[in-house]
Amino acid sequence: MKNKETIPFWESKTLSEMTKKEWESLCDGCARCCLLKLEDEDNQNIYYTSVCCHLLDLEHCRCTHYSQRSTLVPDCVTLTPDNLHELAWMPSTCAYRLLHEGKPLPEWHPLLSGTSESTREAAASIFSYATPENEIDAEQLPDYIIEWLK
Ligand code: SF4
Ligand code: SF4
Repeated sequence: MKNKETIPFWESKTLSEMTKKEWESLCDGCARCCLLKLEDEDNQNIYYTSVCCHLLDLEHCRCTHYSQRSTLVPDCVTLTPDNLHELAWMPSTCAYRLLHEGKPLPEWHPLLSGTSESTREAAASIFSYATPENEIDAEQLPDYIIEWLK
């Protein structure tokens, strides 16, 4: 049984109680949230595509303009403890969404594996299949819908 001192912060604290450093460390670097999405106007369903934001450094799955992201890409939501209601459209594997829904982190999460490589090794990263948006025509976007990603 875990005593209080050995319970990791992501199990002992709510998202709102975490320090900035703890909050940032939850991001597994999958970059799934940087994939472009399409909304079905009839039923408001959201569909992920395999096309990623033009500001993403796909090789490293990092935002190239992290501090300016919400200005440069208005659709890019900066998650904070105050807008957790925005998590519903985040990928189901996103650590913030999982914790918000009371679910555990996956075993490959870097906080559990001890290495940032585990996200890619678990094929949770978009690195192997994403196409940068500046490499396609906008009208082609529906062709890139990936229904397996929720
Ligand atoms: S989906 Fe969640 S865990 Fe993955 S990169 Fe985005 S914020 Fe981080
Ligand atoms: S602006 Fe940065 S964080 Fe936001 S979707 Fe684009 S690459 Fe991802």
